[in-house]
Amino acid sequence: MKRFDVLISGGGMVGLPLGLALAQGGLKTVIADAAPPAKMLDPGFDGRVSALAYASVRMLTALGVWERLAPDAQPIREILVSDGQAGKPASPFSLHFDAQEVGAEALGYIAENRHIRAALYQAVVSCPNLELMAPAAVKSLTVEGAGAVARLDTGEEISATLAVAADGRESMLRSQMGIQIIGWSYPQTGIVATVEHERPHNGVAYEHFLPSGPFAILPMTGNRSSLVWTEAKAKAPALLALDEAGFNDELARRFGNHLGKTRSAGPRWSYPLSFHLAREFVRPRFALAGDCAHGIHPIAGQGLNLGLKDAAALAEVLLDAGRLGRDIGALDTLKRYERWRRFDSFALAASTDALNRLFSNDIAPLRHLRDLGLGIVDSIGPARRFFMRHAGGDIGKLPRLMKGEAA
Ligand SMILES: Cc1cc2nc3c(=O)[nH]c(=O)nc-3n(C[C@H](O)[C@H](O)[C@H](O)COP(=O)(O)OP(=O)(O)OC[C@H]3O[C@@H](n4cnc5c(N)ncnc54)[C@H](O)[C@@H]3O)c2cc1C
Repeated sequence: MKRFDVLISGGGMVGLPLGLALAQGGLKTVIADAAPPAKMLDPGFDGRVSALAYASVRMLTALGVWERLAPDAQPIREILVSDGQAGKPASPFSLHFDAQEVGAEALGYIAENRHIRAALYQAVVSCPNLELMAPAAVKSLTVEGAGAVARLDTGEEISATLAVAADGRESMLRSQMGIQIIGWSYPQTGIVATVEHERPHNGVAYEHFLPSGPFAILPMTGNRSSLVWTEAKAKAPALLALDEAGFNDELARRFGNHLGKTRSAGPRWSYPLSFHLAREFVRPRFALAGDCAHGIHPIAGQGLNLGLKDAAALAEVLLDAGRLGRDIGALDTLKRYERWRRFDSFALAASTDALNRLFSNDIAPLRHLRDLGLGIVDSIGPARRFFMRHAGGDIGKLPRLMKGEAA
Protein backbone atom coordinates (compact mmCIF):
# COMPACT_ATOMS: atom_id res chain seq x y z
CA MET A 1 0.00 0.00 0.00
CA LYS A 2 1.31 3.50 -0.91
CA ARG A 3 1.78 5.80 2.07
CA PHE A 4 1.54 9.63 2.07
CA ASP A 5 1.36 12.48 4.58
CA VAL A 6 -1.81 13.86 2.96
CA LEU A 7 -4.36 12.38 0.56
CA ILE A 8 -6.66 14.85 -1.23
CA SER A 9 -9.84 13.45 -2.74
CA GLY A 10 -10.74 15.80 -5.62
CA GLY A 11 -8.38 17.56 -8.00
CA GLY A 12 -10.60 20.54 -8.80
CA MET A 13 -9.65 24.20 -8.59
CA VAL A 14 -9.32 23.84 -4.78
CA GLY A 15 -7.76 20.37 -4.43
CA LEU A 16 -4.96 21.09 -6.95
CA PRO A 17 -3.62 24.30 -5.30
CA LEU A 18 -3.94 22.67 -1.87
CA GLY A 19 -1.77 19.78 -3.09
CA LEU A 20 0.79 22.21 -4.52
CA ALA A 21 0.99 24.23 -1.29
CA LEU A 22 1.45 21.11 0.86
CA ALA A 23 4.02 19.47 -1.42
CA GLN A 24 6.01 22.69 -1.85
CA GLY A 25 6.07 22.92 1.96
CA GLY A 26 7.58 19.42 2.18
CA LEU A 27 4.58 17.13 2.84
CA LYS A 28 4.34 14.02 0.66
CA THR A 29 0.95 14.48 -0.97
CA VAL A 30 -1.33 12.60 -3.39
CA ILE A 31 -4.38 13.97 -5.21
CA ALA A 32 -6.94 11.49 -6.57
CA ASP A 33 -9.56 12.76 -9.01
CA ALA A 34 -12.45 10.84 -10.53
CA ALA A 35 -12.28 12.60 -13.93
CA PRO A 36 -9.56 12.20 -16.59
CA PRO A 37 -7.52 15.47 -16.83
CA ALA A 38 -8.04 15.70 -20.61
CA LYS A 39 -11.82 15.77 -20.08
CA MET A 40 -11.59 18.58 -17.52
CA LEU A 41 -9.50 20.72 -19.89
CA ASP A 42 -11.92 20.27 -22.78
CA PRO A 43 -13.79 23.50 -23.61
CA GLY A 44 -16.98 21.41 -23.51
CA PHE A 45 -16.52 20.42 -19.83
CA ASP A 46 -17.18 23.70 -18.00
CA GLY A 47 -18.32 26.93 -19.66
CA ARG A 48 -17.68 29.09 -16.62
CA VAL A 49 -15.17 31.77 -15.92
CA SER A 50 -14.03 32.74 -12.43
CA ALA A 51 -13.44 36.18 -10.99
CA LEU A 52 -10.16 35.82 -9.12
CA ALA A 53 -9.75 38.29 -6.28
CA TYR A 54 -6.28 39.82 -5.98
CA ALA A 55 -5.62 37.90 -2.74
CA SER A 56 -6.19 34.71 -4.79
CA VAL A 57 -3.86 36.02 -7.51
CA ARG A 58 -1.14 36.59 -4.87
CA MET A 59 -1.62 32.98 -3.74
CA LEU A 60 -1.41 31.60 -7.30
CA THR A 61 1.72 33.72 -7.84
CA ALA A 62 3.36 32.32 -4.70
CA LEU A 63 2.54 28.78 -5.89
CA GLY A 64 4.12 29.42 -9.33
CA VAL A 65 0.77 29.09 -11.14
CA TRP A 66 -0.01 32.70 -12.02
CA GLU A 67 2.85 33.09 -14.54
CA ARG A 68 1.24 30.26 -16.54
CA LEU A 69 -2.30 31.71 -16.24
CA ALA A 70 -1.66 35.46 -16.62
CA PRO A 71 -1.62 35.51 -20.48
CA ASP A 72 -5.18 34.10 -20.45
CA ALA A 73 -6.54 36.34 -17.67
CA GLN A 74 -8.38 39.62 -18.22
CA PRO A 75 -7.79 42.38 -15.63
CA ILE A 76 -10.97 43.92 -14.16
CA ARG A 77 -10.29 47.66 -14.15
CA GLU A 78 -13.73 48.88 -13.15
CA ILE A 79 -16.96 47.41 -11.75
CA LEU A 80 -20.35 49.07 -12.32
CA VAL A 81 -23.25 47.93 -10.14
CA SER A 82 -26.80 49.01 -11.01
CA ASP A 83 -30.40 48.09 -10.36
CA GLY A 84 -33.04 47.79 -13.07
CA GLN A 85 -35.59 45.85 -15.10
CA ALA A 86 -35.10 43.97 -18.39
CA GLY A 87 -35.74 46.22 -21.40
CA LYS A 88 -35.70 49.41 -19.29
CA PRO A 89 -32.85 51.82 -18.58
CA ALA A 90 -30.91 51.14 -15.37
CA SER A 91 -31.79 53.13 -12.25
CA PRO A 92 -29.83 56.42 -12.02
CA PHE A 93 -28.32 55.21 -8.72
CA SER A 94 -25.31 53.04 -9.35
CA LEU A 95 -22.08 52.07 -7.71
CA HIS A 96 -18.75 52.49 -9.45
CA PHE A 97 -15.50 50.83 -8.37
CA ASP A 98 -12.27 51.83 -10.08
CA ALA A 99 -8.89 50.11 -9.60
CA GLN A 100 -7.12 53.48 -9.97
CA GLU A 101 -8.81 54.70 -6.79
CA VAL A 102 -6.93 52.09 -4.75
CA GLY A 103 -3.74 52.47 -6.81
CA ALA A 104 -4.05 48.94 -8.21
CA GLU A 105 -3.54 47.63 -11.74
CA ALA A 106 -6.78 45.64 -11.42
CA LEU A 107 -9.62 44.90 -8.98
CA GLY A 108 -9.27 41.23 -9.85
CA TYR A 109 -8.99 39.03 -12.94
CA ILE A 110 -11.41 36.98 -15.03
CA ALA A 111 -10.10 33.63 -16.24
CA GLU A 112 -11.84 30.71 -17.92
CA ASN A 113 -12.06 27.72 -15.58
CA ARG A 114 -10.38 25.49 -18.18
CA HIS A 115 -7.38 27.84 -18.27
CA ILE A 116 -7.18 27.89 -14.45
CA ARG A 117 -7.22 24.08 -14.42
CA ALA A 118 -4.60 23.86 -17.20
CA ALA A 119 -2.21 26.19 -15.33
CA LEU A 120 -2.73 24.20 -12.12
CA TYR A 121 -2.08 20.86 -13.89
CA GLN A 122 1.15 22.14 -15.42
CA ALA A 123 2.39 23.21 -11.98
CA VAL A 124 1.26 19.94 -10.36
CA VAL A 125 3.01 17.61 -12.82
CA SER A 126 6.32 19.42 -12.34
CA CYS A 127 6.09 19.49 -8.53
CA PRO A 128 8.26 17.01 -6.60
CA ASN A 129 6.60 15.36 -3.58
CA LEU A 130 3.20 15.48 -5.32
CA GLU A 131 1.43 12.68 -7.16
CA LEU A 132 -1.74 13.10 -9.23
CA MET A 133 -3.83 9.97 -9.76
CA ALA A 134 -6.55 10.50 -12.37
CA PRO A 135 -8.92 9.08 -13.30
CA ALA A 136 -9.15 7.47 -9.86
CA ALA A 137 -12.27 7.96 -7.70
CA VAL A 138 -12.10 7.51 -3.94
CA LYS A 139 -14.77 4.93 -3.11
CA SER A 140 -14.44 4.80 0.68
CA LEU A 141 -12.34 5.99 3.59
CA THR A 142 -11.54 4.27 6.87
CA VAL A 143 -10.04 6.28 9.71
CA GLU A 144 -7.86 4.30 12.08
CA GLY A 145 -5.65 5.31 15.02
CA ALA A 146 -2.64 6.81 13.21
CA GLY A 147 -3.97 7.23 9.69
CA ALA A 148 -6.72 7.07 7.10
CA VAL A 149 -6.99 4.44 4.37
CA ALA A 150 -8.73 5.25 1.09
CA ARG A 151 -9.92 2.70 -1.42
CA LEU A 152 -9.95 3.80 -5.06
CA ASP A 153 -12.10 2.50 -7.90
CA THR A 154 -8.85 1.39 -9.58
CA GLY A 155 -8.55 -1.24 -6.84
CA GLU A 156 -5.61 0.52 -5.15
CA GLU A 157 -5.46 1.42 -1.46
CA ILE A 158 -3.69 4.53 -0.15
CA SER A 159 -2.83 5.32 3.41
CA ALA A 160 -2.20 8.86 4.70
CA THR A 161 -1.80 10.67 8.01
CA LEU A 162 -4.63 12.99 6.92
CA ALA A 163 -7.36 12.76 4.26
CA VAL A 164 -8.88 15.96 2.82
CA ALA A 165 -12.18 15.97 0.95
CA ALA A 166 -12.11 18.56 -1.86
CA ASP A 167 -14.59 16.60 -3.94
CA GLY A 168 -17.21 19.31 -4.51
CA ARG A 169 -20.80 20.05 -3.51
CA GLU A 170 -22.07 16.46 -3.66
CA SER A 171 -19.06 15.17 -1.69
CA MET A 172 -19.21 11.44 -1.23
CA LEU A 173 -16.62 11.49 1.58
CA ARG A 174 -18.50 14.16 3.56
CA SER A 175 -21.62 11.93 3.52
CA GLN A 176 -19.63 8.81 4.29
CA MET A 177 -18.11 10.50 7.35
CA GLY A 178 -21.63 11.48 8.49
CA ILE A 179 -20.99 15.25 8.38
CA GLN A 180 -24.31 17.08 8.06
CA ILE A 181 -24.88 20.26 6.06
CA ILE A 182 -27.35 23.10 6.46
CA GLY A 183 -28.58 24.39 3.15
CA TRP A 184 -31.28 25.11 0.62
CA SER A 185 -31.79 25.48 -3.12
CA TYR A 186 -32.45 28.87 -4.68
CA PRO A 187 -35.52 29.15 -6.95
CA GLN A 188 -33.03 30.33 -9.59
CA THR A 189 -30.84 28.82 -12.29
CA GLY A 190 -27.44 30.21 -13.31
CA ILE A 191 -27.23 30.51 -17.11
CA VAL A 192 -23.69 30.96 -18.36
CA ALA A 193 -22.74 31.94 -21.91
CA THR A 194 -19.89 33.66 -23.72
CA VAL A 195 -20.82 36.65 -25.89
CA GLU A 196 -18.86 38.48 -28.56
CA HIS A 197 -19.38 42.21 -28.97
CA GLU A 198 -18.41 44.93 -31.45
CA ARG A 199 -16.78 47.37 -29.05
CA PRO A 200 -14.01 46.70 -26.49
CA HIS A 201 -15.10 46.30 -22.87
CA ASN A 202 -12.00 48.12 -21.52
CA GLY A 203 -11.90 45.76 -18.56
CA VAL A 204 -15.24 46.92 -17.13
CA ALA A 205 -17.41 44.32 -15.32
CA TYR A 206 -21.13 44.98 -14.92
CA GLU A 207 -23.42 43.64 -12.21
CA HIS A 208 -26.98 44.50 -13.19
CA PHE A 209 -29.61 43.54 -10.60
CA LEU A 210 -32.81 42.41 -12.34
CA PRO A 211 -35.98 41.21 -10.55
CA SER A 212 -35.28 37.53 -11.29
CA GLY A 213 -31.65 37.78 -10.14
CA PRO A 214 -28.29 39.36 -10.89
CA PHE A 215 -27.08 39.61 -14.48
CA ALA A 216 -23.30 39.85 -14.56
CA ILE A 217 -21.23 40.75 -17.61
CA LEU A 218 -17.61 39.79 -16.96
CA PRO A 219 -14.85 40.95 -19.34
CA MET A 220 -12.84 38.18 -20.98
CA THR A 221 -9.74 38.43 -23.17
CA GLY A 222 -10.50 39.96 -26.60
CA ASN A 223 -13.89 41.45 -27.45
CA ARG A 224 -15.64 38.79 -25.41
CA SER A 225 -17.57 38.75 -22.15
CA SER A 226 -18.97 36.00 -19.99
CA LEU A 227 -22.58 36.27 -18.85
CA VAL A 228 -23.65 34.89 -15.53
CA TRP A 229 -27.39 35.29 -15.90
CA THR A 230 -29.44 34.32 -12.85
CA GLU A 231 -32.98 33.55 -13.95
CA ALA A 232 -36.11 32.22 -12.19
CA LYS A 233 -35.95 28.40 -12.27
CA ALA A 234 -39.33 28.18 -14.06
CA LYS A 235 -38.22 30.50 -16.90
CA ALA A 236 -34.73 29.12 -17.48
CA PRO A 237 -35.61 26.04 -19.63
CA ALA A 238 -37.47 28.23 -22.18
CA LEU A 239 -34.52 30.64 -22.40
CA LEU A 240 -32.05 27.80 -22.80
CA ALA A 241 -34.19 26.27 -25.56
CA LEU A 242 -34.46 29.49 -27.63
CA ASP A 243 -32.92 29.50 -31.09
CA GLU A 244 -29.88 31.70 -31.74
CA ALA A 245 -31.87 34.77 -32.85
CA GLY A 246 -34.35 34.50 -29.95
CA PHE A 247 -31.56 34.12 -27.38
CA ASN A 248 -29.67 37.10 -28.83
CA ASP A 249 -32.88 39.22 -28.57
CA GLU A 250 -33.35 38.31 -24.91
CA LEU A 251 -29.68 39.02 -24.36
CA ALA A 252 -29.93 42.49 -25.95
CA ARG A 253 -32.92 43.41 -23.72
CA ARG A 254 -30.79 42.82 -20.63
CA PHE A 255 -27.34 43.61 -21.94
CA GLY A 256 -28.15 47.02 -23.47
CA ASN A 257 -26.13 48.37 -26.40
CA HIS A 258 -23.09 49.91 -24.69
CA LEU A 259 -20.80 47.29 -26.32
CA GLY A 260 -22.41 47.55 -29.75
CA LYS A 261 -23.93 44.51 -31.45
CA THR A 262 -23.67 41.36 -29.31
CA ARG A 263 -24.11 37.70 -30.12
CA SER A 264 -23.68 34.54 -28.11
CA ALA A 265 -20.61 32.50 -29.01
CA GLY A 266 -20.53 28.84 -28.10
CA PRO A 267 -22.90 26.74 -25.99
CA ARG A 268 -25.17 27.91 -23.15
CA TRP A 269 -24.70 26.29 -19.77
CA SER A 270 -26.98 26.06 -16.79
CA TYR A 271 -26.13 25.44 -13.14
CA PRO A 272 -28.54 24.83 -10.24
CA LEU A 273 -27.90 27.36 -7.49
CA SER A 274 -27.85 26.40 -3.84
CA PHE A 275 -26.48 27.34 -0.45
CA HIS A 276 -24.85 24.93 1.97
CA LEU A 277 -22.47 24.95 4.89
CA ALA A 278 -21.03 21.86 6.56
CA ARG A 279 -21.75 21.64 10.31
CA GLU A 280 -18.18 20.48 10.91
CA PHE A 281 -15.09 21.12 8.78
CA VAL A 282 -12.88 18.52 10.53
CA ARG A 283 -12.86 15.14 12.23
CA PRO A 284 -9.79 13.25 13.46
CA ARG A 285 -7.59 12.62 10.37
CA PHE A 286 -10.18 14.24 8.09
CA ALA A 287 -10.86 17.78 6.81
CA LEU A 288 -13.15 19.43 4.24
CA ALA A 289 -12.19 22.21 1.82
CA GLY A 290 -13.82 24.18 -1.02
CA ASP A 291 -17.36 23.51 -2.26
CA CYS A 292 -17.43 20.34 -0.18
CA ALA A 293 -17.43 22.57 2.93
CA HIS A 294 -19.58 25.45 1.59
CA GLY A 295 -21.57 26.42 -1.48
CA ILE A 296 -22.66 29.99 -2.02
CA HIS A 297 -24.73 32.01 -4.50
CA PRO A 298 -22.55 33.26 -7.40
CA ILE A 299 -23.90 36.83 -6.96
CA ALA A 300 -20.53 38.10 -5.73
CA GLY A 301 -18.31 35.63 -7.67
CA GLN A 302 -16.61 34.51 -4.46
CA GLY A 303 -17.08 30.69 -4.28
CA LEU A 304 -13.68 29.76 -5.65
CA ASN A 305 -11.94 32.57 -3.76
CA LEU A 306 -13.43 31.17 -0.55
CA GLY A 307 -12.18 27.67 -1.45
CA LEU A 308 -8.69 28.98 -2.26
CA LYS A 309 -8.62 30.62 1.17
CA ASP A 310 -9.49 27.23 2.73
CA ALA A 311 -6.59 25.66 0.82
CA ALA A 312 -4.15 28.40 1.91
CA ALA A 313 -5.26 28.29 5.56
CA LEU A 314 -5.25 24.47 5.77
CA ALA A 315 -1.78 24.30 4.19
CA GLU A 316 -0.47 26.88 6.68
CA VAL A 317 -1.94 25.06 9.71
CA LEU A 318 -0.59 21.67 8.57
CA LEU A 319 2.87 22.94 7.61
CA ASP A 320 3.21 24.85 10.91
CA ALA A 321 2.19 21.72 12.84
CA GLY A 322 4.63 19.57 10.84
CA ARG A 323 7.51 22.01 11.44
CA LEU A 324 6.83 21.80 15.19
CA GLY A 325 6.84 18.00 15.02
CA ARG A 326 3.10 17.76 15.80
CA ASP A 327 0.69 15.21 14.33
CA ILE A 328 -0.90 16.87 11.25
CA GLY A 329 -3.96 14.61 11.47
CA ALA A 330 -4.69 15.19 15.17
CA LEU A 331 -8.02 16.85 15.97
CA ASP A 332 -6.45 19.74 17.92
CA THR A 333 -4.30 20.63 14.88
CA LEU A 334 -7.30 20.48 12.55
CA LYS A 335 -9.55 22.48 14.91
CA ARG A 336 -7.26 25.47 14.32
CA TYR A 337 -8.23 25.31 10.63
CA GLU A 338 -11.92 24.91 11.47
CA ARG A 339 -11.92 27.94 13.81
CA TRP A 340 -10.16 30.01 11.14
CA ARG A 341 -12.36 29.07 8.20
CA ARG A 342 -15.85 28.09 9.37
CA PHE A 343 -16.95 31.49 10.67
CA ASP A 344 -15.45 33.33 7.68
CA SER A 345 -17.26 30.96 5.28
CA PHE A 346 -20.52 31.40 7.18
CA ALA A 347 -20.20 35.21 7.13
CA LEU A 348 -19.60 35.33 3.35
CA ALA A 349 -22.28 32.70 2.61
CA ALA A 350 -24.83 34.60 4.73
CA SER A 351 -24.01 37.99 3.17
CA THR A 352 -24.27 36.67 -0.42
CA ASP A 353 -27.59 35.04 0.52
CA ALA A 354 -28.89 38.34 1.99
CA LEU A 355 -27.69 40.28 -1.08
CA ASN A 356 -29.54 37.89 -3.38
CA ARG A 357 -32.75 38.22 -1.34
CA LEU A 358 -32.52 42.02 -1.21
CA PHE A 359 -31.91 42.47 -4.94
CA SER A 360 -33.75 39.58 -6.65
CA ASN A 361 -37.26 41.03 -6.51
CA ASP A 362 -39.36 43.88 -7.84
CA ILE A 363 -40.87 45.10 -4.56
CA ALA A 364 -41.03 48.91 -4.89
CA PRO A 365 -40.05 49.92 -1.30
CA LEU A 366 -37.10 47.50 -1.40
CA ARG A 367 -36.08 48.82 -4.82
CA HIS A 368 -36.02 52.39 -3.46
CA LEU A 369 -34.09 51.28 -0.38
CA ARG A 370 -31.39 49.45 -2.36
CA ASP A 371 -31.09 52.30 -4.90
CA LEU A 372 -30.57 54.63 -1.97
CA GLY A 373 -27.98 52.21 -0.52
CA LEU A 374 -26.07 52.05 -3.84
CA GLY A 375 -26.12 55.86 -4.11
CA ILE A 376 -24.91 56.34 -0.52
CA VAL A 377 -22.04 53.83 -0.78
CA ASP A 378 -21.04 55.38 -4.13
CA SER A 379 -20.81 58.84 -2.61
CA ILE A 380 -18.65 57.82 0.39
CA GLY A 381 -15.02 57.17 -0.56
CA PRO A 382 -14.06 55.02 2.48
CA ALA A 383 -17.19 52.86 2.04
CA ARG A 384 -16.36 52.34 -1.65
CA ARG A 385 -12.77 51.42 -0.78
CA PHE A 386 -14.01 49.01 1.94
CA PHE A 387 -16.13 47.16 -0.64
CA MET A 388 -13.20 47.09 -3.08
CA ARG A 389 -10.97 45.51 -0.42
CA HIS A 390 -13.81 43.06 0.34
CA ALA A 391 -14.11 42.07 -3.35
CA GLY A 392 -10.33 41.72 -3.51
CA GLY A 393 -10.39 39.23 -0.64
CA ASP A 394 -8.24 41.51 1.54
CA ILE A 395 -10.29 41.11 4.70
CA GLY A 396 -10.09 38.99 7.83
CA LYS A 397 -7.02 37.02 8.80
CA LEU A 398 -5.15 36.30 5.57
CA PRO A 399 -3.10 33.11 5.23
CA ARG A 400 0.57 33.68 4.32
CA LEU A 401 0.01 32.44 0.75
CA MET A 402 -2.65 35.11 0.23
CA LYS A 403 -0.15 37.75 1.31
CA GLY A 404 2.13 36.44 -1.46
CA GLU A 405 4.49 34.62 0.94
CA ALA A 406 5.47 30.93 0.96
CA ALA A 407 3.11 28.70 2.95
C1 LIG B 1 -22.72 29.79 -12.25
C2 LIG B 1 -21.53 29.83 -11.34
C3 LIG B 1 -20.60 30.86 -11.45
C4 LIG B 1 -19.51 30.95 -10.56
N1 LIG B 1 -18.65 32.00 -10.67
C5 LIG B 1 -17.62 32.12 -9.78
C6 LIG B 1 -16.71 33.25 -9.83
O1 LIG B 1 -16.82 34.15 -10.67
N2 LIG B 1 -15.72 33.32 -8.90
C7 LIG B 1 -15.56 32.38 -7.93
O2 LIG B 1 -14.68 32.53 -7.07
N3 LIG B 1 -16.38 31.28 -7.88
C8 LIG B 1 -17.40 31.13 -8.76
N4 LIG B 1 -18.23 30.04 -8.70
C9 LIG B 1 -17.96 28.98 -7.70
C10 LIG B 1 -16.80 28.05 -8.11
O3 LIG B 1 -16.99 27.58 -9.42
C11 LIG B 1 -16.67 26.88 -7.12
O4 LIG B 1 -16.64 27.39 -5.81
C12 LIG B 1 -15.38 26.06 -7.37
O5 LIG B 1 -15.41 25.48 -8.64
C13 LIG B 1 -15.24 24.94 -6.30
O6 LIG B 1 -14.11 24.16 -6.56
P1 LIG B 1 -13.89 22.77 -5.81
O7 LIG B 1 -12.55 22.28 -6.25
O8 LIG B 1 -14.16 22.91 -4.35
O9 LIG B 1 -15.04 21.80 -6.34
P2 LIG B 1 -15.26 21.21 -7.79
O10 LIG B 1 -14.89 22.18 -8.85
O11 LIG B 1 -16.66 20.68 -7.81
O12 LIG B 1 -14.22 19.99 -7.91
C14 LIG B 1 -14.43 18.77 -7.25
C15 LIG B 1 -13.51 17.73 -7.87
O13 LIG B 1 -13.66 16.50 -7.15
C16 LIG B 1 -13.69 15.41 -8.06
N5 LIG B 1 -14.40 14.30 -7.40
C17 LIG B 1 -15.72 14.20 -7.11
N6 LIG B 1 -15.95 13.04 -6.46
C18 LIG B 1 -14.75 12.40 -6.33
C19 LIG B 1 -14.34 11.16 -5.75
N7 LIG B 1 -15.21 10.31 -5.17
N8 LIG B 1 -13.03 10.82 -5.81
C20 LIG B 1 -12.11 11.65 -6.41
N9 LIG B 1 -12.47 12.83 -6.99
C21 LIG B 1 -13.75 13.19 -6.93
C22 LIG B 1 -14.37 15.97 -9.31
O14 LIG B 1 -14.00 15.22 -10.47
C23 LIG B 1 -13.84 17.42 -9.33
O15 LIG B 1 -12.65 17.51 -10.10
C24 LIG B 1 -19.33 29.94 -9.56
C25 LIG B 1 -20.25 28.88 -9.45
C26 LIG B 1 -21.35 28.83 -10.32
C27 LIG B 1 -22.34 27.70 -10.19
